[in-house]
Amino acid sequence: MQKKKYDVLIIGSGGAGLSSAITAAQNNMSVAVISKVHPLKSHTVAAQGGINASLGNISSDDWRWHAHDTIKAGRGIADEDSVRYMCQSAPNIIKKLEKIGVEFDKLENGKINQKIYGGQSTNFGDGDLAHRACFSKDRTGYNIMHKLYKKAMSLGVKFYNYYFALDLLIENENCYGTLCWDIDKGKILPIFANNIIIATGGYSQIYATATSAATCTGDGNGLANRAGISLQDMEFVQFHPTAISRIGVLITEAARSAGAKLLNRDGDQFMLSYSPQFKELATRDVVARAIATEIMMGRGCGDNKEYVLLDLTHLSAKYIQDHLPTIFENCQSFLKIDPSNKMIPIAPAAHYTMGGIPTNFNCQVVKNSKIIKGLYAIGEAACTSVHGAGRLGCNSLLDILSFSEKVIESIQKSSPNYMEFNLAGVEKLLNRWQGVFGKHDGSIDLLKLKSNLQTIMSQNVGIFRSEKQLLKAFELVSDIEKSLKKYKVTDSALEWNIELQNYIELCNMLPSAKATISAALWRKESRGAHWRFDYPLSNDSDFLCHSLCSTNHTVNKNDVRKISPFHCDKKA
Ligand SMILES: Cc1cc2nc3c(=O)[nH]c(=O)nc-3n(C[C@H](O)[C@H](O)[C@H](O)COP(=O)(O)OP(=O)(O)OC[C@H]3O[C@@H](n4cnc5c(N)ncnc54)[C@H](O)[C@@H]3O)c2cc1C
Repeated sequence: MQKKKYDVLIIGSGGAGLSSAITAAQNNMSVAVISKVHPLKSHTVAAQGGINASLGNISSDDWRWHAHDTIKAGRGIADEDSVRYMCQSAPNIIKKLEKIGVEFDKLENGKINQKIYGGQSTNFGDGDLAHRACFSKDRTGYNIMHKLYKKAMSLGVKFYNYYFALDLLIENENCYGTLCWDIDKGKILPIFANNIIIATGGYSQIYATATSAATCTGDGNGLANRAGISLQDMEFVQFHPTAISRIGVLITEAARSAGAKLLNRDGDQFMLSYSPQFKELATRDVVARAIATEIMMGRGCGDNKEYVLLDLTHLSAKYIQDHLPTIFENCQSFLKIDPSNKMIPIAPAAHYTMGGIPTNFNCQVVKNSKIIKGLYAIGEAACTSVHGAGRLGCNSLLDILSFSEKVIESIQKSSPNYMEFNLAGVEKLLNRWQGVFGKHDGSIDLLKLKSNLQTIMSQNVGIFRSEKQLLKAFELVSDIEKSLKKYKVTDSALEWNIELQNYIELCNMLPSAKATISAALWRKESRGAHWRFDYPLSNDSDFLCHSLCSTNHTVNKNDVRKISPFHCDKKA
């Protein structure tokens, strides 16, 4: 039994987890981080394109213009207090990253270089496209993560690597730790803390083709759901327009920023008709829907007309290798092509999840309008909600880094949460997990259940949705849930038990999938990343709000936090 009680326990060691661990340690708190994979295998290392900040190094910029674009991409349901905080803190975040050694690409004058990314404008949308994304070649997340990890280690943060969080320890709406599985040593044990931060990342692995790491199984949603917490804005799943067809490997927006064009089977640059102003650099939902429409209308390429082409052939091999090395490597490894002389077959893939665990502006987790004391959520696991119905490219790294400061500030301001260990509560949860082992008749194939879930979601709850498809998906996913309830984990060893890990992850994916479907059914309109064939228009009078999906799948509206008058308003 773990005796030590930490000031802060962080579940997850991606960019959000590591960065909040650093801030906590710098404020003299005792900090522990648990992670189901090694920190440097967390999904954030895969972030390629960059991180937004209105530095104005190439042309003038302003955090208010950045906030305007963020709110616009969120289609009216981003919480404005969060947006204002994030955009305003961006330049300082970049300074802090440079201070810990992150090397951004530079201009000849020594200032940080900045790229144009989709949906980013100047002068409240009236000016030119904004140069706002700071980048480290196309390995921005990788470079940031290595420096964050080194810094956290130097500050004495305690890492529990290969520890899998199974359940939150909560009593009387007071969180005092987590029950976890030590995958390496084969033990199940509690870790106690005065404050717990969930930073477990997103849930896009509920789809068959996703650009995210296999670890993004929405475990935070599972933890929250088992604690009776509703999930917010789950219908908003961002599909990245350009992933390698069939396998979902990302071709970052930086390619389009470097002038890549999208072509259909007739060689037409179709974005000219879908978005004459922004073309390939329109927001992701617009480009993804355009590609999906081309494919749906039979204008896709290949024998099955299932992809369109991304043309980077205006660039030399040397340029791509120097500036977009990950794209070059991925084209070589997965397609055996050189993108400077052959076009890339691409199709949209699930990429980022705007929904998750509902928090207030201070990152405190909210259950039935009440704060759970000592429990916080940040990063892609959380719905803070800074992205609303659609996230702008390069705003997520900024989100995870800025809110990892906010969460520690908020812990410092809260009255201390000295909840005592509740051993009876721990034992009850332990018994529940022991019940998952046993014999089963072999009729249920766990991995088949997982791939069926992913296929159902991709086929019915993708870029385009309809009531008929969503109802069908709900029924099919409920069948999977029933089968999983009958399933017993046959291998009772606890060390590196892959069957157990697959089982727990599927248990966590199901509430995310069902909440995504339920919220998509409830939102009888189209907004941002959520598009209904049967309700193609936005309906502000009924749906300019968040959705909140309870554990029994009833969905209610939750108000958007608006600031009035908001400073980024053109007229203010
Ligand atoms: C291919 C790709 C490229 C991207 N590029 C960019 C970009 O250029 N710019 C940008 O702004 N955004 C980008 N994004 C989005 C961005 O990378 C993510 O939103 C962000 O990295 C999420 O960080 P996080 O810390 O919240 O989660 P993650 O990095 O996913 O970390 C989650 C952590 O939680 C741990 N964990 C999960 N479940 C458990 C559990 N049950 N128990 C213990 N530990 C657990 C994991 O081990 C991991 O350490 C990209 C996304 C993708 C898919």
